[in-house]
Amino acid sequence: MTAIDELLQRAVRLGSQGVPTPPRLRLAIVTCMDSRIDPFQIFGLERGDAHVLRNAGGVVTDDVIRSLILSQRFLGTQEVMLIHHTRCGAHDLPEEEVKAAIQAESGIRPPFSLEAFTDIDADVRQSMERIRQSPFLAHREAVRGFVLDVDDGSLREIR
Ligand SMILES: [Zn+2]
Repeated sequence: MTAIDELLQRAVRLGSQGVPTPPRLRLAIVTCMDSRIDPFQIFGLERGDAHVLRNAGGVVTDDVIRSLILSQRFLGTQEVMLIHHTRCGAHDLPEEEVKAAIQAESGIRPPFSLEAFTDIDADVRQSMERIRQSPFLAHREAVRGFVLDVDDGSLREIR
């Protein structure tokens, strides 16, 4: 049985239960895909409260900007909460080595950045700047960035 088969056995039919599409808190959270991080549990969120955008590292990529454009323009979000975390897989990832290995295996070098980083605070600031400097976003100033310590669960704001 695959993992997906297991989920299909466990699946609950939730339906929207009348929850409106625009997030109630007018908030988008951008964070890492790390399976230890559950923004709903950490912040006591309920369905319908916020958009949660996730990728490896919680990095503000072009695709995150794409989602934020739609989130802000059509679904009314105005704040962005950015959360990177300690012991992230993208931390100290040897980007050039990984790209070279992929190229050796596939014959094609990934044309995009893997967004590996060495300094987590600088990485959060970089993602905040990408939002603040995006000409495509209506709400660029209400962005705050944090580092989540996955060991003790504390949040540290990056300024
Ligand atoms: Zn991570």
